Formats: sequence, structure tokens, C-alpha cells
Amino acid sequence: MTKAARTHPTRIAVDGGGTALSYAELDAQAAAFADGLRRRGLRRGDRIAVFTPNRAEYFPVLFGLFKGGFVAVPVNAKLHASELGFILENSGARAVVFAEKSSGVVAAALGSSPHTERIIVGRGGPGSFAEIVASGCSAGFADAEVDSDDLAWLFYTSGTTGRPKGAMLSHRNLRASTMNALADMCDFQPEDVVLHVAPLSHGSGLYALPAIARGAKNHVHAGTSFTPTAVLDTIERERVTVIAFLAPTMIHRLVEADSEHRTSTLRRIVYGGAPIDPSLARKAIDRFGSIFVQLYGQGEAPMTITYLRPQDHHGKAMSSTGIVRTDVEVRVVDETGSPVPEGAEGEVCVRGDVVMQGYWNNSEASAEALRGGWLHTGDVGRFEDGRLYLLSRQNDVIISGGSNIYPREVEEALLAHPAVKEACVFGEPDQKWGESVVAAVVTSSTVGAEELMVWCRDTIASFKKPKRIEFVGSLPKNAYGKVLRRQVRDDLTAPGSP
Ligand code: AMP
Repeated sequence: MTKAARTHPTRIAVDGGGTALSYAELDAQAAAFADGLRRRGLRRGDRIAVFTPNRAEYFPVLFGLFKGGFVAVPVNAKLHASELGFILENSGARAVVFAEKSSGVVAAALGSSPHTERIIVGRGGPGSFAEIVASGCSAGFADAEVDSDDLAWLFYTSGTTGRPKGAMLSHRNLRASTMNALADMCDFQPEDVVLHVAPLSHGSGLYALPAIARGAKNHVHAGTSFTPTAVLDTIERERVTVIAFLAPTMIHRLVEADSEHRTSTLRRIVYGGAPIDPSLARKAIDRFGSIFVQLYGQGEAPMTITYLRPQDHHGKAMSSTGIVRTDVEVRVVDETGSPVPEGAEGEVCVRGDVVMQGYWNNSEASAEALRGGWLHTGDVGRFEDGRLYLLSRQNDVIISGGSNIYPREVEEALLAHPAVKEACVFGEPDQKWGESVVAAVVTSSTVGAEELMVWCRDTIASFKKPKRIEFVGSLPKNAYGKVLRRQVRDDLTAPGSP
């Protein structure tokens, strides 16, 4: 960012919600924030949580933390006080940056803890971001001399499988993620207008790094809610060229919204983080063009494992997560850690500069995840024609009558039915088979369970078809829009449930 500010001082670096900062202004504000924090006694290596909904100030905050050598702990602003409290305590955050409307949540999360400083953005006064920036000095500020292995970002996993863990991302990891993004996902240019609508605490924030490195303009769609027509308005008004990151659920809502808006300025939409229904991907391409690139990644290898190029969004390849990213090694291994041949299923493992250092304060989980020098993703997949097909999370595999059934293939079969909008498949104990397949579906028109079972039997092996189908109004999702499979399972298998 410091370099981009020298190269493009007058270009707009970030705008949104009535705030606009040129690269020179962003650099000066970030430096003054870092200096202001130092003057308050915060030191290099201190963890500072950013619990702020998307807003333009996210940029001077995040880059200020990098410049000062602090460790950013971005937290999704939709989290509950108890979830935020866990992350603040687990990370040992010395300060938390938040918007005024989250004051109650932050107060509940912190309780009476006197150790965490509270920094409000969006208004002035004592303890505010504005006051800290005003108290700092950008003239002559020198960026902290960080080592590549120093921590830069604690990336808390989204917690679909229990308590979140803090993936320790170093400056080297972020640089590798940035370079891989430029190589494979989008060659950001100074002329680009990059829209951030997904949480900056996750994928969109990581994509701010290559966008800023290249001097592009970042437009932040403020707030935590996703309103498709407002997003389309923004794309048209701001002449957006790149959408930094969309979850598949967001694509679904954009496609369902009207098609009147002019969106032809768009040249790239990066999406991923969860499986996409191929029929939805096709509709999205019809609406916006062949500009979609899918990423498969995880916080532990920030957004960088495989990618599905726009050219590969057709036919069978569309059910894959694409090919291995340029500067990453990926292999599929069996239970003993030995690579399996192409076509065989196993756990996806990753190696390279992008892989995290381990989990914060959790040496046991770190050793387990990084055994043998490879990141064990916990995802089950197989390579075919050089493309990675993801089957499920390791713990979600259903074993019925001794055969493995991967929820995703059953979900894809269900989603191909015109009446099915969403599907979540899991296993429940079965005396005869060990486990049997259950599906929770959200439908857009009337359809019977029997018809869906026959439909599945026509497209996948009969033993994989659901034995029980429950019709639900919606599926529970986490703050990033990922379906909480275990919650669905617990809700539908609890005593007294249907
Ligand atoms: P997180 O660390 O919260 O981003 O979650 C990462 C997990 O999301 C991965 O381990 C996968 O299980 C899942 N995931 C990420 N990208 C994709 C994708 N393109 N397709 C299917 N699942 C994905």
C-alpha cells in the first residue's frame, strides 16, 4: 500500500458511504492511526480486533495495523456477543475497533474486562478512530520493519464445526495469497473499480490486498446486509469492473433480482467459499457473462487452493473446483498420508507459502493440521482430468452399508430438480445400514418426497438417494452464508423432531 500511494497518490483508493480517500490520504490516515496506537502504548505484535461492518474506514484501519506491525483480527460484524467474546479472549486482543451501533455487543462481549481498548469508528470524541488518527503523526512515519514470518492477520475459521480457531497468517502468507490472486483470479489494474459487498473480514478483505497493491479504486458497499437491487444500483452507478468476492448465495440473490440494471462494465466476479449449484452458475453466466472465477480455499490457506477459470465453467468441469493455483502444491492422500492415484478419493492437502503457520494458542490442532509439512484441509476430494472435485468435509461423509456417500453429490442431484431451491444432506443412525441419508430441502413449488426420491434414483446410485426428506422453510447459515450442516442434522434428528 505504501508503494501504491507513491505511484498513484491522487487516484481514489477507497470510497463508499460518503467517504473517499485518495491513495495519499489512505496512506497518511493509516500511518497516523498506527502512530496514534503506538502513542497509546500498543506495541508491534499486539492483536487488534476489527469488528466493523463494511465501510470505507476499514481500509485505513486494516492497512494502519499492517503499517504499525500489529496483528489484525478481522471479525465478522454479524457475530453474536458470545462469539465475539470468545475471539477477543482467545486472541488476547489488546483493542477492538467497532462501529457505534455495535457498542452493546462489544460491551456484552468484553464484560468488565479492562484489558481491551475500545475504538469506535464513524464518530469523533475520546477513544474514537478519528481521535487516534488526529493524535498520530503521519509525517516521517516509518512502516514497522516486519519479518516475512511475523504475524499479520489472525483469521478465525467460520466455525461450522465448533469453536473457531485462529489461523495464524504471516506477511509471507498474505503476500503469497496476493500474488496468487493476481496470477490466477484477477489482474487488478489502476483503472478498475472493485466492489466489496461480502464481509471485508473474510474473502473480500483478502482481495483488497491485490486491488490496493495495483492502485485500483475500491468501492465499499456499506453495511452488513446484502440487498440485491442496491448492489445492482451500485454496480451501474459506480461502473464497477470487478466484484472482489461473492458467496454462492449472493449470486443466487443477484440472479433472482431484476435484469434491468446495466452491468456491462463488469469484467470479473470472484466467488466461492462454498459449493455452487451448476444450474445457478449457468444462470449467472447468462445474466452477467462469462466473467466468473471460482475459488476454493480456506482461512488456513487464505483463499488459495484451486480455481475454476471462466473458460472452464461448462459441462462436467462446472461441478469441480478447478485446477491447482499457480504457486501452490495440492495432493489428495489416504488415511496414512500417502498420495492416492488420480481419480481416487481422499483428504485434500496443500503446501506452499500460502499455508498458515498454525492455529493461535493451539499447538495440538496445529500439529494435527500441518502434519508432514502439508496442510490437511479436512476436505475430501478427488482429482480427475487435473481438476479437483470436492466431495464433502471429512466429518460429513455418510457411511451407509459400508459405502461412502458424499452429501454434495446427493445435494447436487436434488438441486437439479426444478422445484428445489436449497438442499442439505446428512446421515442419521440406522440400525440396519449404520447410517442412512436424510435431506432437508427448501422448495419453490409443491413437490412430494416420493417424487424427489425417484428423481434422485434416476441420477445417482440408488443407495445414495435420501431415505427421508424433510421440507423446511429455510436452512440455517453462518455469518458467511455457509449452511450449518450439523445444526440441520441436530435439529432434524433431535428426539421429537419430525
Ligand atoms: P473458511 O475457512 O471459512 O473459508 O471455510 C473453508 C471451507 O469452505 C473449505 O475447507 C471447504 O470445505 C469450503 N469451501 C471453500 N471454497 C469452496 C468451494 N469453491 N467449493 C466447495 N466448498 C468450498
